[in-house]
Amino acid sequence: MKKLICAALAAFFCCAAPAVTAEAAWKQEAGGSWQYEKPDGTLATGWQYLDGSWYFFSGAGEMYTGWQYIGGDWYYLSSDGAMRTGWVQVNGKWYFLAPDGRMRTGFVHDGGGWYFLDGSGAWTEDDPESHVCLSENGKVMELRDGILYVDGILIANKSYPLPADYAPGGLTAETQAAFGQLQNAMAAEGLSLWVASGYRSYDYQAGLYRKYVNRDGKAAADRYSARAGYSEHQTGLAFDVNQVNDSFADTPQAKWLAAHAHEYGFIIRYPRGKEGVTGYQYEPWHLRYLGTETAKAVYESGLCLEEYLGIDSVYSR
Ligand SMILES: [Zn+2]
Repeated sequence: MKKLICAALAAFFCCAAPAVTAEAAWKQEAGGSWQYEKPDGTLATGWQYLDGSWYFFSGAGEMYTGWQYIGGDWYYLSSDGAMRTGWVQVNGKWYFLAPDGRMRTGFVHDGGGWYFLDGSGAWTEDDPESHVCLSENGKVMELRDGILYVDGILIANKSYPLPADYAPGGLTAETQAAFGQLQNAMAAEGLSLWVASGYRSYDYQAGLYRKYVNRDGKAAADRYSARAGYSEHQTGLAFDVNQVNDSFADTPQAKWLAAHAHEYGFIIRYPRGKEGVTGYQYEPWHLRYLGTETAKAVYESGLCLEEYLGIDSVYSR
């Protein structure tokens, strides 16, 4: 009987493709907990991607279910063990799980709307703009007119998009003025600097992203281009300079910017080696205006903006 259940479950799990080898098998212990025996006869432990879903097994090989705190984050595993993503309702409360399974708290944007999840991850039904919370390193996060601010800094990244109708129409006056000073300082060193791509509207970004997806596919496009609403170019506080390609990194201009841009209020927004945090590959040409005080603090911290503010940059789906 146990064998039958086991076979039925295995068949259910591998309905998409016959990924399970003849030797690998789900097994149920006398105590009722499930294990997954690998072809070499050892039990699966830790996170395992099996037949299209993620599962988590203890060091002894026991499959986990329900809420689990793993590696500093909460995850929700169904009664069949599969890791859940998106919205889940547990004991009458709604929770949101990122595509990598981590339970979210605080402000979440999904399906065109904002939600506020309390410290336990439960959705609170009142207006998200009535809430304030702290980022992972204690910076104040608040939502005003559909725009997320952390420590007073306007954010546009993969977790926190801008409203479609947010349209400064160009670089802000402050950004433009700071760029002028930066440009003059570089000219004095014999280095030319120009804006290759400045402000982009929501609709323009939508067309750009669509074009890249058609050319390179969604996964590749997401590494270098933002979906509409998620681009920093829509803020009027960010722009690309000179050659927008990898060869720019080796130019004297790029080296000067990396060392001095913060003195004029700018940061290299997507630094090398931080793709896992910012959500974007290294872009030596993309500058973000923060004002001299904040830009200097971020530069001196050696952190990218997300790390400095204690926030993440991950699409909700
Ligand atoms: Zn850019």
